[in-house]
Amino acid sequence: MPVPRAAAAADGPTVAIDIGGTKIAGALVHPDGTMTATTRRPTPRGTDAETVMAAVTEIVAELSRSPLWTTAVRCGIGSAGPVDASRGTVSPVNIGAWREFPVQARIEAELAARGAELPTVLAGDGVAMTAAEHWLGAARGHANALCMVVSTGVGGGLVLNNQLHPGPTGNAGHIGHISVAFDGEPCACGGHGCVESIASGTAIARWALAQGWTPAADASAAGVAVAARAGDPVALAAFDRAGRALAAAIAATATLVETDIAVVGGGVAASGGTLFEPIRRHLASYATLSFVRDLKVVPAALGTHAGLIGAAAAATMLLPH
Ligand SMILES: [Zn+2]
Repeated sequence: MPVPRAAAAADGPTVAIDIGGTKIAGALVHPDGTMTATTRRPTPRGTDAETVMAAVTEIVAELSRSPLWTTAVRCGIGSAGPVDASRGTVSPVNIGAWREFPVQARIEAELAARGAELPTVLAGDGVAMTAAEHWLGAARGHANALCMVVSTGVGGGLVLNNQLHPGPTGNAGHIGHISVAFDGEPCACGGHGCVESIASGTAIARWALAQGWTPAADASAAGVAVAARAGDPVALAAFDRAGRALAAAIAATATLVETDIAVVGGGVAASGGTLFEPIRRHLASYATLSFVRDLKVVPAALGTHAGLIGAAAAATMLLPH
């Protein structure tokens, strides 16, 4: 007689699926944070919605061949945004074939077809990264934290009172699109002076080039960071401006909801002190009230597998136990 799944494996692994513009990854993530059956596929490009879904199906099929598959207790899906967690759909900027694609229902069907009728959670990558950093990374032990990704774009998420706070559609903490400059330049979102339009890697490189910076080789934000470390004044100014925008947004968030730490990850944060020094310097002039003066800004601690860890952590935090 079959044993009910939940009773058989209350501490079983989480099926984690991480969907990004360049790769789709899957793993079984265990309660101690280790992973097994890790697998990945390149995200199909220039194709239709079903071809992209076929790559997800292959990953689910591969995971289902793990001897631990039958012990899985839930499934977490992390995806590049925008996502609408209230409807289970995604429209990733870098996966043009998917517009309001019902990825959550489709994955539930693939799980069920392999004998795993699991509860699922869909989270945007900023929320997933936040869950990962709170579980195993730099925000561990912090009841109220802002976590952000600064790369091609700027995203983020919130932990409030030890709970992941995705908001109704999974987009709470989307710090890249709050305005820090009244008369700032138009942003792709339709707003003005958004953090992303100043502090993303794309924005840093664009601003530096517009101010007359001449790239030695790499014209991206990484190239600007190299020039800044060599003392190039325009490159330094580009990072100072980005750091100032991030500092204003971090201070505003802390003042609003009393976060005591901001964790910053992503490709631009990988430039280390080049970004963190201006953030911390400017923070002193924005985080001024007594209850935010001890606000810390630290680099993210999780590297390559943060997406899978985050998908699993988001599912664990958001599903009832
Ligand atoms: Zn915006």
